[in-house]
Amino acid sequence: MPAVLGSYSPPVLCPYCNADNDKVIDSRTSDGGKVTRRRRECLACTRRFTTYERVEQTAKLMVIKRDGRRVPFDRENIVRGVSSASGKRKIPEDIKQKIADEIEEELHKQFDREVESQVIGEKLMGRLRDIDEVAWIRFASEYYKFKSVDELKKQLELLDGKVRDVKDQQRLFS
Ligand SMILES: [Zn+2]
Repeated sequence: MPAVLGSYSPPVLCPYCNADNDKVIDSRTSDGGKVTRRRRECLACTRRFTTYERVEQTAKLMVIKRDGRRVPFDRENIVRGVSSASGKRKIPEDIKQKIADEIEEELHKQFDREVESQVIGEKLMGRLRDIDEVAWIRFASEYYKFKSVDELKKQLELLDGKVRDVKDQQRLFS
């Protein structure tokens, strides 16, 4: 095994004799670091072969903003959203991270490539509703930019209903 841990690459099957016992004799990256090419020597039959290791290009989730622009999904925006909604009422860092993790996971399950920013906002609102009502109202009023108290009330009632719906559904499926 090579002395440098970071450069260790597990043996692969030799294409000539099928032994899985080889040493890497040369390793270099190309394509801007996306491909690693390893020259290997089989310790059983001493023949040489090459393997290529590629970074998997997983589909990046894009967020469609209200103005139609598309930006890559960034979970930090969720963390920041929770922070600004909570204001001086500190929501612990691990809770923020947990909310971001859960929303990110849901988004990747429900959407392939694109999601409207509105969907993320509503998911975040649902979470805030559970942990801190004041933060929830602050976030909702900023989010919907209400022009009147009536408008705010109406929206809050609507959201409250939605949150309950989601919870009922979760109960049904759990
Ligand atoms: Zn071999």
